[in-house]
Parts: sequence; structure tokens; C-alpha cells
Amino acid sequence: MYHDRPGRGRIAGRAEVLRRLPAISPTTWTRAAESFPVQLTRSWLDRIRSADGPLGLQALPHERELVPDPGDRADPVGEGRRSPVPWVVQKHADRALLLLTRRCHLYCRYCFRRGQEGPADPTPAELDAALAWIRQRGVREMILSGGDPLAVRDRRIFSAIDAVRPAVPVVRIHTRAPITAPFRVTDALVAGLAERAPVWVIVHANHPDELSPDVRRALAALVDAGIPVLNQAVLLAGVNDDPAVLAELFGELTTMRVFPYYLHHPDPAPGNAMFRLSTRRGLRIYSELASRVSGIALPRYVIDPPDGLGKLDVAEWVHAGGRRPVPSDASPSTPQQEP
Ligand code: SF4
Repeated sequence: MYHDRPGRGRIAGRAEVLRRLPAISPTTWTRAAESFPVQLTRSWLDRIRSADGPLGLQALPHERELVPDPGDRADPVGEGRRSPVPWVVQKHADRALLLLTRRCHLYCRYCFRRGQEGPADPTPAELDAALAWIRQRGVREMILSGGDPLAVRDRRIFSAIDAVRPAVPVVRIHTRAPITAPFRVTDALVAGLAERAPVWVIVHANHPDELSPDVRRALAALVDAGIPVLNQAVLLAGVNDDPAVLAELFGELTTMRVFPYYLHHPDPAPGNAMFRLSTRRGLRIYSELASRVSGIALPRYVIDPPDGLGKLDVAEWVHAGGRRPVPSDASPSTPQQEP
């Protein structure tokens, strides 16, 4: 695997984090890590201004993670019911998601997949079976996801792409590594992805403080190589639930030639209740945001309900009373819990 070991290389060690951020309780760290790993990069640690600031909250364990919430769902976006073979999720006929690993460089405390259990990586046989299924399925797009797909070695990423070509013409890589671990965007990675065009890279930044000089260099390297780069952000209470913060984030991203693709309503996984806000409040923030930024700096504000049928606009969801408005032959949607 790609990972440096904590305390060595580019992953921050627990002792180092606790020394630099004494507000973090070692006991809370230990207890939180029992259900979801606690790990961050030195690059991210250097960007944290305070434990309860926007970057600290996203990465550091918090007492509120330990308190169950009635709105928690182990599988908040219904992936379990859309997994035809292990490590594959298919919600739409034209694309399929391959979970290349469950590992990440940094474990975001709000992650919607934090309730998932199981081995960290597919076995070689499982990976071969997943790729064969995708290759034969007649999809146009394969989405490499995880965990973070860039938490595995280049060789594995490239061979996964090569295994489905030419049957699957478009590959997307959904990764937070250029933001959390910008050192991962090496010349070899960029060259390998550019050689395999069309490969789209969808990154994940939530706050302007994340856009440090090393992150900007990593994103520029991808864009300069002709790789389309888009961003997905999550609307998070206490982190970026402010139209001015979001306007700054999306304005900066467009300056960097990164298109703000989606703003996700937070998904209610176990342990992430502190980051949730109501769709009503989210729509108010989004409306104010829309009045502040141009069309190219305005992402779609979407929700991914637990019915496993995929994303839809939050406005559409709310207008239909917290249900999916379009009838479907799949199971009926469940109203979203309002925290
Ligand atoms: S990098 Fe992505 S998959 Fe990993 S913890 Fe963060 S949000 Fe979850």
C-alpha cells in the first residue's frame, strides 16, 4: 500500500498532533478510533489554526462522535442495496463505482462511509472480478472511489483503468488526496493519468483554508496536464455553513481552473451528527451563495437519500416534502430525518 506509517514520513503521529493541539483529549482519540480511524497528514496539521476551527473539526476526534444520534444511518446513501458484486456500486445504468480501497490519508470525521465495516482492500481475486463485471456491463464511466483511491500505489490505479479500456471510455477518480495529501500528486501519477485520457479527477475541498500553496501546486499540475478537475464540497455545520466562506472557496477554485461541481447536503452516518444541518437552513445558505457568485462558481446543491437511487437537487427534495418526487420501480424513498 501507498501509506507512510503514522509518525513517519508525511502522516502525522498521534503524539505530535496531541503536542501541537493540546485541546484534544487522548481518551477521546482512543475511543473515537475504535469506530473510525483517526489519522491526518502533516500537510493538513500545518494548516490547522485551532482544534475547533474548520480544518481541526474535519480531521480531529471530538466527544460528540461518541454520542449516538437518532438520525444516524449505517448506510446513509443506500450503497449496500446497489452493490452487485463486492467493491462495486451501481446506481445508474451508464456508470459504475469501484471502491479501490477503504484507506485514506486523512479520515474526515463527517465521512458518509464511516459506518462501513470490512477489510481495507479487495483481494486480487475480488478486484479482478469487480473489474470484469464493470468491463462487461456496458457502462460509459468507471468511477474510482474508496476510501481514497489515491491511497493505493500508481501501478494498481493504472492497471484498474487499463483493465476496463476500451470497453469503458471515461474514468473518474474521486479523491481527496490532492487536498489532504498534496504530496501524492507526483509527476509520475500526473503523467500516468494524462496518458490514459479521458480521466477526470474530482477532488473534495470544503473550506478556503484548505487551499494551501502545496494544494494549489498539486491542482495546477493536474490541470496543466490537461486533466479536467472538478470539486465536490460538503455543507458542514461549524465548518463552512456560511455563504461568505463558500463564495470564497468556490471563487478560489474557479481561479485555479477547478470547477465547483457539487455542494452535498451532509449524509447522516453514525458519529457525524455534529456536522448536520437542516435542508431548510442549507437552502437559505445556498440562496445567499447564489446571489454572491457567478454561474461558473456555483455548484449544484444536492442530497443523496438512503433509497440508493442517487442524488437530486435539495430544492426538489424539499419541494416534494422530503421524498424523491419521480416515481421509480425501485423501493420507495424514506423521508430524510431533519436534525
Ligand atoms: S477522504 Fe473521502 S472517503 Fe476518506 S474519510 Fe474523507 S470523505 Fe471519507
